[in-house]
Amino acid sequence: MTEVTLVHGDITEQVVDAVVNAANSSLLGGGGVDGAIHRRGGPEILAACRELRATTLADGLATGQAVATTAGRLPARHVIHVVGPIWSATRDRSHLLRSCYEQALRVADELGTLSVAFPAVSAGVYGWPLDDAARIAVDTVLATPTGVREARFVLFDERSYAAFRAALTT
Ligand code: ADP
Repeated sequence: MTEVTLVHGDITEQVVDAVVNAANSSLLGGGGVDGAIHRRGGPEILAACRELRATTLADGLATGQAVATTAGRLPARHVIHVVGPIWSATRDRSHLLRSCYEQALRVADELGTLSVAFPAVSAGVYGWPLDDAARIAVDTVLATPTGVREARFVLFDERSYAAFRAALTT
């Protein structure tokens, strides 16, 4: 059984086997969680991403997919990059957001990781309404068969922490 835990804090400080990055499909850096992970983790992570772009992921990482790299200088061992969907008011892209969590857990299982820290994928620059993003995140992680023992959602601000707490308890 996966235990879902919530932390109010910074994902780059988590001592876990793997942290999930809300990346963009270029894998070459961005703002928000992505910027924080690359700043804190150092150049090794970007070098690994460039290597992926030069080899298996020439066109980048598709929305809803996941790929692992080193975690560089982060306290975690691996970074699992996922690309969340950009929120659309006219098209339901929730399957792509669910896929981020499912694919991240699949990669986590391949790596044999027991603890994984997740950010609120798509709930920042990509504009997904927070309550819905939280519900999809929590429901998907609880519904996905995995060997991961602890799935830790790391929420940067009070509002997102409250949204995830509501999703977990109702
Ligand atoms: P996306 O582009 O998928 O929307 P963002 O990185 O813009 O991703 O934001 C995703 C969520 O992560 C937002 O709720 C944002 O506040 C939060 N966030 C930003 N920096 C950090 C951090 N260092 N640790 C944890 N969460 C963070």
